Amino acid sequence: MKNKLLQNGLSSIKAIFFDMDGVIYDSMGHHSVAWNKAFAFLGLDFPLEQVYMNEGRTGSSTVQMFFREKLGREATAEEIASIYAQKSKIFESMPKPIPFEGIAGLMRQFKSAGVAIWVVTGSAQDQLLDGLCRDFSGLILREKIVSAKDVKQGKPNPEPYLKALKSSGFSAGEVVVIENAPLGVQSAKAAGIFTVGINTGILDDEILWNSGADVVVKGISQLGKFFFPQKV
Ligand code: MG
Repeated sequence: MKNKLLQNGLSSIKAIFFDMDGVIYDSMGHHSVAWNKAFAFLGLDFPLEQVYMNEGRTGSSTVQMFFREKLGREATAEEIASIYAQKSKIFESMPKPIPFEGIAGLMRQFKSAGVAIWVVTGSAQDQLLDGLCRDFSGLILREKIVSAKDVKQGKPNPEPYLKALKSSGFSAGEVVVIENAPLGVQSAKAAGIFTVGINTGILDDEILWNSGADVVVKGISQLGKFFFPQKV
């Protein structure tokens, strides 16, 4: 292992910064369909794979990226607001996202080991953030969530993870990030943090490695074994 932090064992890790969608919640399927449908209302095609590739951006950045790349122009503020509102409406009409099996147990193991739990997400949907605190009562506190509302630049910019470092008071060498999205991995690595890429979606592992992940695991069970190898 390249990282001194993990060579020394879990005792030297002070905090885990979890991404939310695709790491805590099995929600990326819904998000990708919601984005796809929101653009389809305008007669535009946003393929699911492209949604996964751009996961982690804020809503406005996602719309802006699409307009620049596919339409060759900037989106207006009205277009951004309207498409994001449409996407949020579609998402909220879908069944509530379910946490991945085993993620709460893993968080409890971190908590028992004295490791702080933070969440760093590109989401700005209050309903989701409130739900997160309810679903993980005793594990996740609202003041330990950095959301799209707390930053100017979303992932892949390092700002969300730098903000989490600043708010938590930990240094980059004391924490580990868990991210499922290529842009999320890039954001965390640009902030100088050891990053575990967890592949829970439709993209190849290679994409997470190429984004700079220090290690790539498949699913929560492998993630648990990475941090707690003694527990089978
Ligand atoms: Mg994610």
